[in-house]
Amino acid sequence: MVRVAIVGGGISGLTTAFYLEQERRRGAPLSFTVFEAEGRFGGVIRTERVNGCVIEAGPDSFLSSKPWARELCDDLRLSSQLIGSRDEDRKTYILINGRLEPIPPGMQMMVPTRIGPVLTSRLFSRRTKLAMAREYLWPPQPLGADDDESVASFVSRHFNSEVVDRLADPMLTGIYGGDASMLSARATLPLMIDMECRHRSLVRGALAARAAQHSSAVPPQSLFTSMRDGMQRMVESIVRQVPRETLRSSRRVEAIKAQENGWQIKLGETTEDFDHLILAVPAHVSAKLIAELPGSERPAELLGEISYSSAVTVALVYAGGISLPAGFGFLVPRGEGKRMIACTFVHNKFENRVPTGTALLRVFMGGTRDAEILDQTDDQIVQIVRREVREILNIEAEPQLIRVFKWHKAMPQYGVGHLLKVARLEMHMQRFPKLHLSGNAYHGIGIPDCVRAGRAAADAIMRRMRSQRALA
Ligand SMILES: Cc1cc2nc3c(=O)[nH]c(=O)nc-3n(C[C@H](O)[C@H](O)[C@H](O)COP(=O)(O)OP(=O)(O)OC[C@H]3O[C@@H](n4cnc5c(N)ncnc54)[C@H](O)[C@@H]3O)c2cc1C
Repeated sequence: MVRVAIVGGGISGLTTAFYLEQERRRGAPLSFTVFEAEGRFGGVIRTERVNGCVIEAGPDSFLSSKPWARELCDDLRLSSQLIGSRDEDRKTYILINGRLEPIPPGMQMMVPTRIGPVLTSRLFSRRTKLAMAREYLWPPQPLGADDDESVASFVSRHFNSEVVDRLADPMLTGIYGGDASMLSARATLPLMIDMECRHRSLVRGALAARAAQHSSAVPPQSLFTSMRDGMQRMVESIVRQVPRETLRSSRRVEAIKAQENGWQIKLGETTEDFDHLILAVPAHVSAKLIAELPGSERPAELLGEISYSSAVTVALVYAGGISLPAGFGFLVPRGEGKRMIACTFVHNKFENRVPTGTALLRVFMGGTRDAEILDQTDDQIVQIVRREVREILNIEAEPQLIRVFKWHKAMPQYGVGHLLKVARLEMHMQRFPKLHLSGNAYHGIGIPDCVRAGRAAADAIMRRMRSQRALA
């Protein structure tokens, strides 16, 4: 019997548990245990269902274009729970000089695909509109195959610094809690790097992608997918579908030790032995856990170099009577002098999130831009948010319900050179057979990427078991 320990009960660790359980049911001779430090499973995925509102404390959806989370939902028999974002109402604003300016229709992230809306938009100066035309006609040299650069440098090379400040940086801050001048273009914008490689011009690449989509027989899917009752439904479903005794909450793994043919983990005063060990925890936790292993200096150092930012989300429920612009919400560039990074109009983005007539705003704060916000009390954070909501949206009304959620060191920062660092790390980790790294720190921070990583960890164990059986 092969024994597997999974450290970390977020979506990455739980996905591994789910797929190992499928193998076990098919007769694979294995057992597994998930050790989770907190009293609940799901990591940053957490939904509160209050007064008919679905309030997401962490992620509210996943990108539909990446298939792995949807596949997991199909395997969990949750397909009927999946809902798409209401893209017919999709409109996102950028706060510019205190005013909400819509991102013109046809923008694919920071790349225009329609001329008319860009020409009439007040979001961009004339200089930027000309830079966009120039990029189409005279695109810059592509990045060298082995090179990397920051998102800010990549976007400036194609357009200019205004596109960085008004679009790229607010968008990346919203996703990674990061900074466009630090984040790696290769790791965070892989599709754009690919476009650059194939078309040189991002505008040409985006137009080609749009044409291909128009001529495709497959109907376009909504940009975001969520769960009808909230994202936690994925977690609850996995928890229900693996044996209860395999899930241990409030069990922080404090140390790991190599054994002759496996691993020992230490929890408080007790130790337990396993054959395989999966670390589905933040890189800084993995760095500490492997630090005492002989020969672990370099991988521990590489793990420790992956920095993290923290986030605060604040949900505000208004019982009708407030007037908001149409659309999904807005992003706040750092030059605007606000502590908000973004605000989602949740009731517009997804159906059935709130009772009819109710508005649910979700505000994001923190990131590398404002780590200090985590030191404020919930009351202080609420005061700041209410002041900024009043200034930006002109909302004086008292919210019916306010919830504040703090996520400490939860978002890994894929800095310039991240992919090379991860490749080196994986090379060094080969010296620790049966020790696997999983989670959001390496090959993607989104839920689909974490699901893919979790499934890959289960597959790696199965491959190894099969090859050992073949050798026996
Ligand atoms: C505020 C916020 C909003 C987000 N929004 C989106 C979104 O809309 N769409 C999207 O796709 N992604 C989003 N993300 C990213 C995505 O949700 C995460 O990257 C993903 O859920 C991480 O899953 P994970 O299992 O790798 O890590 P985590 O969820 O961080 O889980 C790791 C687990 O390990 C546990 N742990 C840590 N140390 C130990 C130890 N020593 N022993 C045992 N257990 C330990 C922790 O308690 C935690 O439960 C968001 C993230 C945040 C923070």
